[in-house]
Amino acid sequence: MTIIEPPTLEKPPRRREKRRPVRRHAGPTLKITSLSLWHVPLTSHVTYRMASGKSCATVETVVLRVETDAGITGWGEVCPIPHYLPAYARGVAPALEELAPILIGADPLGAEALMARADAHLEGHVYAKSALDIALWDITGRAAGLPLMTLLGGRRTETLPLYHSITCVEPDEMARIAREAQATGITQFQAKLGASGDWTTDVERLAKVREAVGPGPLVYGDWNCGTTSLEATRVGRAASHLDVMLEQPCPTIADCVRVREATRLPMKLDEVAHDTASLLQAHKDGCMDAVALKLSKFGGLSATRRARDLCLHLGARMCVEDTWGGDITTAALLHLAAATPPDRLLNTCDLAGYVGPSLAIDTPRRHNGRIAPPEGPGLGITVDVGALGAPDLILE
Ligand SMILES: [Mg+2]
Repeated sequence: MTIIEPPTLEKPPRRREKRRPVRRHAGPTLKITSLSLWHVPLTSHVTYRMASGKSCATVETVVLRVETDAGITGWGEVCPIPHYLPAYARGVAPALEELAPILIGADPLGAEALMARADAHLEGHVYAKSALDIALWDITGRAAGLPLMTLLGGRRTETLPLYHSITCVEPDEMARIAREAQATGITQFQAKLGASGDWTTDVERLAKVREAVGPGPLVYGDWNCGTTSLEATRVGRAASHLDVMLEQPCPTIADCVRVREATRLPMKLDEVAHDTASLLQAHKDGCMDAVALKLSKFGGLSATRRARDLCLHLGARMCVEDTWGGDITTAALLHLAAATPPDRLLNTCDLAGYVGPSLAIDTPRRHNGRIAPPEGPGLGITVDVGALGAPDLILE
């Protein structure tokens, strides 16, 4: 019998492993050091006339810069249209002054944690918080080296469909504007209604724009809350043979429901859909075939993303946009739109394309009726600080 000795395994010399010290996250890695605010008049290339005497010619936008101790800067913007929603441009500075004690020195990363503290400190004032929330997202994206659309759920599409808004003027002129926009590739047309105060002209506006663009494209008429259920029902019934959608005829969900039921035309809600409760109510009442998700109605990217996710469950098609604004607002909404499933995104809006001056040097522009989101980290645009001049307010 041969005993085979097992080979002796030479033990390697014991080496003392050098362990890297575990870096524990003991607190904020970035701190907000200052907030700067500018008020910039934005002038529309075309004056927008709406119902109830509302218009957009030159409107003040509010630009916010949030700086950190790491040298990373975030930009936000909000541009309330006067008399449009409970929001005004000069209300942003006092709201941010009120919030300054909890913002200065705080960690901006992640946006939602600090926005929750801001909500606890100052209830409401969602439009002012919208600019802040966008800036915090911008910082978070730049710190991560990722575009916001990646952080908001990931890019779902290369380019996004745009609608073109047509000012409320004579029906033939509106038809001409629609044809002009269609020649550039636009396939969705929003005709503003109600500015002349007679319902028969609104029927003509819908009919002429519908006829001008031919079958296929989406045509809808928007009263911006500026009519009654009686007039809107008369318009809708007279236009019920047309392939059109109605948008926000009246100032309450209940009145919009009556119009939806009486006309059987699909309806898009806008001004009355601004939080979770109103979205749920409108869905329950059956008058929300589509809805405008505007960043400053909900309180920025964080809150509008939650509204977007709710609408994915409710089934409404979404227009991801904002009330008005320049390049910073446009960049923010394009990121959220790009991270939204394309079959649920009705359209988006290149607000920066409607106004001047430009606030950034590299904001995407519309091409063939569509637009691509910016691709760089954060908002992905370069704000033209020189064009802004000296800030109107600095909080440190
Ligand atoms: Mg609208």
